[in-house]
Amino acid sequence: MSRDPTSFLGDEYSALVQSDLDWKIRTLQGPSTPWCHIDGKKVLMLCSNNYLGLTNHPALKKAAVDAVTTHGAGSGSVRAIAGNMDLHIQLEERLAHFKRAEASLVYQTGYAVNSGLIPQLVGEQDLVVSDELNHGSIIDGVRLSRAERAVYKHADTADLARVLDEAEKHSPQYRRILVITDGVFSMDGDIAPLDEIAKVSGEHGALVYVDDAHGEGVLGEGGRGIVSHFHLDRRQVQIEMGTFSKAFGVVGGHVSGSRDLTNFAYNKSRTWLLSGSHPPAVAAACIAAIDVLENEPERVQTLWRHTRHFKKSMSDLGFDIGKSESPITPIMVGEAEVAKKLSARLFEEGVFALPIVFPMVAKGKARIRTIMNAALTPEDLDFAIGAFGKIGKELAIVAQH
Ligand code: PMP
Repeated sequence: MSRDPTSFLGDEYSALVQSDLDWKIRTLQGPSTPWCHIDGKKVLMLCSNNYLGLTNHPALKKAAVDAVTTHGAGSGSVRAIAGNMDLHIQLEERLAHFKRAEASLVYQTGYAVNSGLIPQLVGEQDLVVSDELNHGSIIDGVRLSRAERAVYKHADTADLARVLDEAEKHSPQYRRILVITDGVFSMDGDIAPLDEIAKVSGEHGALVYVDDAHGEGVLGEGGRGIVSHFHLDRRQVQIEMGTFSKAFGVVGGHVSGSRDLTNFAYNKSRTWLLSGSHPPAVAAACIAAIDVLENEPERVQTLWRHTRHFKKSMSDLGFDIGKSESPITPIMVGEAEVAKKLSARLFEEGVFALPIVFPMVAKGKARIRTIMNAALTPEDLDFAIGAFGKIGKELAIVAQH
């Protein structure tokens, strides 16, 4: 009798479970609010990407409900065929204005931007130069591109310059060179030196692509992102991508730059052309999120005030908080078992903060990754800090006194 061809599914899953590498996913029962219900327990959310607390903002919810009433539940098609709604166009116009770009293009997700656009920007005759800690969606886009690839040391512009110098000597000459970096690195919370990256890249005639998923709503004037943070312009950073799934509180990817860029992108990205467009509620909620960012810039200030308070308190307690420069604060504990234990005990005490362990980060670099949220109150922060202090001492991660 022939072997069951599906047996690898169970075998591989069991292997993951045995090595404790399987995802143990918790369930949110209700909205993603600072205090929320997860697996039947009321806990303080400290690990969502909901930086500005917009996931449950009344204006976003109302916009979504209204759009269902006026435009229905779905768009009916991919945008290129019959699913291009006035709401999608309005969203792109609003985003371009917010980003101070000539044009913006919205994709279904940020993953769809990176995996769909990068392979069109570069191909076999080109070189793509990537920071060693770039997000997985960039890595997938680069893989699909078939371009030659080079990796530079994390956030190290001298190493980037070395790679670009070497590339100049390449024969035959590359048709195009694309330098790609995350804006804020999602595991460590540090900020790419985009000003220097743009300078070095410009000197070598290379294009710059920044993934600002964690910089939007956080950095720059009114949360306009990393390009604004470094006072750069579109000649220096030609391709700025981002997502509506983090600070904007909804879902969807986007790219901003010149009109030539967006015309090129929608005509060529297979992820954009071959996949259904956002339901009206999503597009309308994203527009409302831009309204909130434009009209309530104090949310960004609150986010930073909370971030400074949390980082200082955690550091005063004796925790190693890494080298973050953003509302992402990793609590470095080293071994995976310690991170998992800390996370489990925090949950029991009423704080939800996920452990990040190998293979997401290098072995010995396990951590709890916390992400600040402007919707937390000072009392919420004290509660979270108190829980960390208590369990940090209990697990001997920090000193007793
Ligand atoms: N880039 C970075 C740096 C991210 O953290 C993420 C989300 N994890 C993405 C891209 C993908 O964004 P989306 O959730 O919109 O697919």
